[in-house]
Parts: sequence; C-alpha cells; structure tokens
Amino acid sequence: MHHFTRSIAEQDPTIHALLEKELHRLGTTLQLIPSENFASKAVLAATGSIASNKYAEGYPGRRYYEGNEYIDQMEQLAIDRAKLLFGAEYANVQPLSGGPANMCVYEAFLQEGETVLSMDLAQGGHLTHGAMVNFSGKKYRFVHYPVDPVTHRIDMHTVREVALREKPRMIVCGASAYPRLIDFSAFRAIADEVGAYLFADVSHISGLIVAGVHPNPLPFADVVTTTTHKTLRGPRGALILSRQEFAKALDSAVFPRIQAGPHQNMIVAKAVAFHEAMQPEFRQYAEQVVANAKVLAEALTEKGYTLTTGGTDNHLMVVNVAAKGMTGSEAASTLAKTGMVTNKNMIPYDTASPFVTSGVRLGTPAMTSRGMQEADMQHIATWMDRALSARDRADALLAIRQEIEEHLASFPIYDSYA
Ligand code: PLP
Repeated sequence: MHHFTRSIAEQDPTIHALLEKELHRLGTTLQLIPSENFASKAVLAATGSIASNKYAEGYPGRRYYEGNEYIDQMEQLAIDRAKLLFGAEYANVQPLSGGPANMCVYEAFLQEGETVLSMDLAQGGHLTHGAMVNFSGKKYRFVHYPVDPVTHRIDMHTVREVALREKPRMIVCGASAYPRLIDFSAFRAIADEVGAYLFADVSHISGLIVAGVHPNPLPFADVVTTTTHKTLRGPRGALILSRQEFAKALDSAVFPRIQAGPHQNMIVAKAVAFHEAMQPEFRQYAEQVVANAKVLAEALTEKGYTLTTGGTDNHLMVVNVAAKGMTGSEAASTLAKTGMVTNKNMIPYDTASPFVTSGVRLGTPAMTSRGMQEADMQHIATWMDRALSARDRADALLAIRQEIEEHLASFPIYDSYA
C-alpha cells in the first residue's frame, strides 16, 4: 500500500489537529521571544522538500554516497551565498544547530582542558559558552569576563584584564541576552595581545549583521558561528564562517568528527534564506526590528520598568521585573496568559535561581516579520504594563488577551501550517 501522496490530514489526523492548533496559537498570540522568528513559506517548503531523503556524507564533489549531483549544486549554492552574505572566505553550512556548530569550533581549535574566555550564561552568554551543565564547560576550562556591575555592559578593560591574567587559548564573544552592540575589533585587539583565537557566536544578531545594522565580526574573528533561525529568518540550523586557513580543520571537525549525514533539506532551506537575506527588503526588515526594539524599550522605561543596560541597540531587551516586585517566572507566566509569549531570563548579578530569575527577555524579530511597526510596540508596552499590574485578576488578563487577538487579526502570517 502506497500512502506517499496523502496530506498530513489524511495520513495522520492526530498530528494534523495539533499543527492546526499551533497555527492558531501563532496567529493569535504575540511572539516576543528574541530567538524566534517566522521563516517564509519558501524556506519552510524547502525544509519539507525531497532533499530530506538524501544521504550526502562528505562535501560537494567528495561524497561517500552516489547520486549527489544536484544535492552538491544546492549545497555549493548555500556555501557561496553564505560567503557572499557575510563577506567570508570559508563557510560550512552543515552544522545541525547552534550547539553542534559551537562544538565543532571548539573541536577544531582547542585541546581538551584548554582555557577559553567567554561571557557567563548567567550574565547573557550561552549554554555552549562554558556552562558547567554543558559539554563545553566539562571539556574545556572556561573563565568569564563579568559585565559592569552598574551599567551591565561589557567593559573591554575588564575583558582585557581577565584575558591578561588567564591567558586563554580562545576568546568567545557573542551572547543570547545582551542588548548592546559587540565591539569585535576591540575583542580582536585583546585576542592579539594574549595570543588567543577570537570566536564570535553571532547566533542572535546575524540577521542584523548581514543587513548592516550591527557591525560584522568578519574579518576580526578567526571563526564565526550563527544559527540560521533567529534574526536571519531561515530554517533551524547553523553555519560556520572563517578564513581559508582554517577550512580543513573546520571541515573535518564537522564531518566526520562531530556529525555524520548532513540534513540536505535544511541546507537547501538555508540557501533560500540567504537569497532572501540578500534582498533590499531584508535590510528594511532588520532596520525595522531595531527601530521596534528601541520603541518598545523606551515605552517600557517610560512606564517605570528597568532594562538591563538601560535599553537596547539590537533586537532584544531584558526587563528587570524584580524592581517591580515580581519574579521573572511570575511575569512570563502572567504575560503568557494574555497571549504575550516571552521567556524568563536572569539579569546580570541576579540573586534568583535560573528557574525563577528576576527578568524577562523580549525581542522584536518575529512580530516585525509579521508587519508590526513602532505604533504596535507602544500597544505592546501598554498591554504588558497592564497585564503585570493586574496579574492576579483573571478577568483583566482575559480582556487583554482579547484585545491582542483583535489587533493581530490585521497582521496575517501563514494561511496554512505547511
Ligand atoms: N549560541 C547562541 C548565542 C544562542 O543564542 C543559541 C541559541 O539560543 C545557540 C548558540 C544554540 O543554538 P541551538 O539552539 O540551535 O543549538
């Protein structure tokens, strides 16, 4: 019996029903998690394409499997577009996600136990930048540069001091919850002074970088990783960028040391996303992401909220809700009841546990993809303030939820889940 041509609805009604519910949830709630976005239908179609079926261990032109003549062309296009987009000599588009990409970088550049200097997860860094619960923290000796206790900004004098003291083999810059620009050239100068590799993980900001609204880590960094599904608005996945001199070490770290068969459907979708990111509309999009974040940050500040670093230069912000008498987890769960989907987040020098936290992290990439502009950010700030002020009143939260749903009706996103 062949069921190859049936729709999901016919083939698997249970999953179909859940996908319909997820589509409705996305359509009727505000996606404010800064690491999320809405990929185009073309990108989504590529992820569900026939390229999913192929094994292609190796690299274009040197595979361990036959039948890759078209797959090779698609992967080569993804590589060439990535290089052009970021201005890089080398790109590897096979990493399955940001975590694996970072693992490949450490594998290519470091020996077990070597010292790496990065930002702490608790201050805005990422799990894979040396957290003790992660492979990175177990396999290498990570030390951290603290953000300034008052401004919560990265202080390049402090980075230099710690680097001179710890003599790291690698310095990592880039973060998951840092709302300001990263000075890659200043990091480069410190890396040169102490003889360290410079690794920039620009997962969050790569869409802003290619649009020219955030400085580019190339050519300062020796190696750069980014996820493709955040501000870059591609499929879930990642890529590695570097100079030709590190090509061999990075290629062999990705395959065969860390990964085996690449996901060619995701590679094709990355190629489509890179093509989209080269268009003038993408630049406008990224500019609007930043403009929207600024307005949201200012509106929240006017309502009496404290933001770490006092605001934002990029697509995200971290609101200190403890200053308003609640925990991050209380705030995030209250907001979720009104259809504002966020995540709790530690603030620098947080005294609450990672599960409770004192902050909420907000970002504008997804709602900007949906077409929202400055005036909508003012509405969001007002809804947030109302929701957090009425957090024990179910009726008030429900009223906000209805207002949000009505507002969202004029910002259609997908007409179907696939
Ligand atoms: N690096 C940074 C800075 C991130 O923010 C993230 C994801 O949030 C990652 C790496 C990991 O990416 P993934 O979740 O795709 O493994």
